[in-house]
Amino acid sequence: MDFEIIRSGRKTIAVEVTTEGEVLVRVPLRLARREVAAFVDRHRGWIARKLAQAEAQRERQSPRQFVQGESFPFLGEMIRLRLVEGAEYLRRDNGEFLLGADLVPRAPALFRTWYRARAREILEERVERFARRMGVVVRGVRITDAKQRWGSCSPAGTLNFAWRLVMAPEGIIEYVIVHELAHLIEMNHSRRFWETVGRVLPDYAVRRAWLRKNEDRLTL
Ligand SMILES: [Zn+2]
Repeated sequence: MDFEIIRSGRKTIAVEVTTEGEVLVRVPLRLARREVAAFVDRHRGWIARKLAQAEAQRERQSPRQFVQGESFPFLGEMIRLRLVEGAEYLRRDNGEFLLGADLVPRAPALFRTWYRARAREILEERVERFARRMGVVVRGVRITDAKQRWGSCSPAGTLNFAWRLVMAPEGIIEYVIVHELAHLIEMNHSRRFWETVGRVLPDYAVRRAWLRKNEDRLTL
């Protein structure tokens, strides 16, 4: 379990789960790290419950309102939404999203369908290209609604990707694809696995760090 230690002149330990899902442990200045870890371990059930509550809360308060001028990420760019009176579609045109004004109540589903379709085209094309380059055989590509993971793979050679991935810049999409393809060679995260990734994308660590830092923004 990841947590952040905040040291101060206090005398006792206290743990707190923020609405963003961070675990903060406030501790006295000189308390050893392993004692802090033991404390967190004893409270792991409580922390897990709080983390689940914080996540449910964030989901209820989706930041999306689907109003004029709001922007949505696609391939790393922010695309503005324009509501069009009388239109019966959601489409991307001239760097804007155009959505029928009467369709706003259905906007979450329409956007999801739109992103899923783009994800299928974009990811299948990139998977094929990198699979050829890495000499691996892919049995199929599935587009999922996964919220917690960007990609996964089965030993049989099927790759799964969250449709939200196409919100990310091209270089990040490449990283997730190469990561999953590398698992068809090494089914683990050993040094050999990372060397396989690094042969294709020498700067994979930068891309991975970007994804960790920004993944919360890549959502509807
Ligand atoms: Zn992995």
